[in-house]
Amino acid sequence: MIKKIDHVGIAVNSVSSVKTMFKTLFHLEPAFEEVVEDQKVKVVGFRLGDTNLEFLEPTGPDSPIAKYLKKRGEGIHHLALGVDNIEETLERFQQNNLRLIDETPRQGAEGKLIAFVHPKSLFGILLELSQEKPE
Ligand code: ZN
Repeated sequence: MIKKIDHVGIAVNSVSSVKTMFKTLFHLEPAFEEVVEDQKVKVVGFRLGDTNLEFLEPTGPDSPIAKYLKKRGEGIHHLALGVDNIEETLERFQQNNLRLIDETPRQGAEGKLIAFVHPKSLFGILLELSQEKPE
């Protein structure tokens, strides 16, 4: 059911400085760049093998990432696991009394279906479940 680490989400003040740094250090351009309205973030993703590094910049003061940056500063925000059936995974988590932030999946970057699980349930890790967009 868990296929891979889909991505690691990193909260930053500015994705453009990340792009500059990746270009200088690794000669790497982003694989995608988009605004996810639902989460009020600008996402810049770098493909590293089968996993992405996703840098998240808030698009407004009410973005969850803006709140995170204010409280903790820049850094690793969440870990995303790729699963093949997100609905089924959420159901199993619920049956095992894990605290879900999203009880039903919503839209993430790259057209994926995503849902967050509360860090209190998982050793302090903010976990994102992610299912690829159906072909
Ligand atoms: Zn994510």
